[in-house]
Amino acid sequence: MTPPAALFTVATFDTVAEALVVQALLDADGIDVTLLNAGLIGLDWSFSQALGGIRLVVRQPQAERAAVLLRAYRDNALTAVDETGAPPPVERCERCGSDDIVIHAPRRRSALLVAFTLIFDVMFPVRSSLRSCRACGHRWSVDD
Ligand SMILES: [Zn+2]
Repeated sequence: MTPPAALFTVATFDTVAEALVVQALLDADGIDVTLLNAGLIGLDWSFSQALGGIRLVVRQPQAERAAVLLRAYRDNALTAVDETGAPPPVERCERCGSDDIVIHAPRRRSALLVAFTLIFDVMFPVRSSLRSCRACGHRWSVDD
């Protein structure tokens, strides 16, 4: 099966699961993604080699951005990127306003977890993480 000329294959995958993860990552970035052969290979993965894998295709204007995200995914380097270049907002103590605070739990979900959330529409329980202020000792929690 040859995709129309306007579509561009940016990656192939052996498993539907990984193809869906990458589809979700690109989709979250506003890239329209189509997976070719996913249905058949999903039924029987042994078709994968015969069909050349699950092909992830995007429209040509979005191919370059998709390739950048794919490289980041394969380098395991996907983190939140602020494209405006603005510094991240500074958290401050609720009580004294100091920015000398300590965060006691990870605040950011991994890209993979975000992808699985998108794919399976699973609602993970809201976690809260603890903050403490080094200036005044105040402690509080923030919902992630
Ligand atoms: Zn404080």
